[in-house]
Amino acid sequence: MSSLVQRDSKVIWHPFTPQKNRKDVTAIVQGKGTLLFDENNKSYIDAISSWWVTLHGHGHPYIAEKLYRQALQLEQVIFAGFTHQPAVELAERLLKKLPDHFARIFYSDNGSTSTEVAIKMSIQYWWNKGEKQRKKIIAFNNSYHGDTFGAMSVSDRSVFTLAFHDVLFDVLFIDTPTKENIGHLKETIQKESNTIAAFIFEPLVQGAGGLKMYDGSLLDELLNFIQKENIICIADEVMTGFYRTGKLFASEYLQIQPDIICLSKGLTGGTMALGVTACTDKIYQAYVTDDKLKTFFHGHSFTANPLACTAALASLDLLEQDSVISNIQSIIERNKTFADHLSQTKENIKNIRTLGTLLAFEVTEGKDEYLNNISNIITEQALQLGVYLRPLGNTVYIMPPYCITESELNKVYEVIEKII
Ligand SMILES: *Cc1c(COP(=O)(O)O)cnc(C)c1O
Repeated sequence: MSSLVQRDSKVIWHPFTPQKNRKDVTAIVQGKGTLLFDENNKSYIDAISSWWVTLHGHGHPYIAEKLYRQALQLEQVIFAGFTHQPAVELAERLLKKLPDHFARIFYSDNGSTSTEVAIKMSIQYWWNKGEKQRKKIIAFNNSYHGDTFGAMSVSDRSVFTLAFHDVLFDVLFIDTPTKENIGHLKETIQKESNTIAAFIFEPLVQGAGGLKMYDGSLLDELLNFIQKENIICIADEVMTGFYRTGKLFASEYLQIQPDIICLSKGLTGGTMALGVTACTDKIYQAYVTDDKLKTFFHGHSFTANPLACTAALASLDLLEQDSVISNIQSIIERNKTFADHLSQTKENIKNIRTLGTLLAFEVTEGKDEYLNNISNIITEQALQLGVYLRPLGNTVYIMPPYCITESELNKVYEVIEKII
């Protein structure tokens, strides 16, 4: 055991990690492109973009250079009463890319806070308008919107939230739409609709719930119904944003556009922590009033941190390059080919699916649940072979950085085939 890992074992409590009989962690000393290097200079292809955030690879010189210059210029400033160039430019550029009727950007500092802000913004929207009975939220079963209390409340009641069920607020949970259940979903919503403030959903794919994909046209039908009931629609694009699903935002696959969109993870190219809650003018106008009690009293110390905004601007620059778009396209095509190949050659897996740069399937070993130990086994074996995977229970998936080379992606496929 290296001295760094030994020191870690005495002082650190890692996220999502059982603490008894702790397994040794791996100390990473450098990241370059898709590769992470440990203390012995062994490299690992980061096939899940370091928890779904890294878009252009680690240690990107263009982003690093911009960060260095911004750090010398202005590294942080309070964002109430002050503003700065990176925050304004980022808001302008995001609004150009978001649906036409989007008008305002509210900054926070991670994915959970971006959904917390969306939930609070929606509930207070109705409070400001004098419809205080509209305070309930609808969410999907199997959803994940973050780990803070509001975000947990609107997330699936699962092993992640078990200890807190008695203290989470009440939510109307519905299944993702199918041809069979959509009529029933509408009836359920209609019964309570004048008490409902908002509907929060992960468009097209439920990330932490196991990369579960569902039908976009049925989602459109549901959104259409929900908007007619005057319920605010919140698209949580924290994972799906920035081309993960093949389009800049997953909402671009839909006819019906949401009223609020949450962004984080890939927003800064995965370099810095930043959250965005974007909203339409309709939402914003409920806060433009002489009544000071109707102010949105929400903010974080590092709201709109200039370094984080700078990283996001640099990432947008890169995403606008043709070469990056063609890399994304090539990942999409090659994932499809690999998915076909897997479905023809492997019998111990099921539900092979792709959407954009995402590929996922379940291994049929053990139960379909997060605590399935097969996850640890796959992670360990893949690490030995130089690839970093982190299955969600028995759901194996890849979510690569867009700079992944052809041979690196082939290696990821080969390692998956070998282990499975
Ligand atoms: C990861 C994630 C979050 C939470 O983001 P954090 O930055 O980890 O707090 C929220 N919603 C979705 C869809 C996510 O995938």
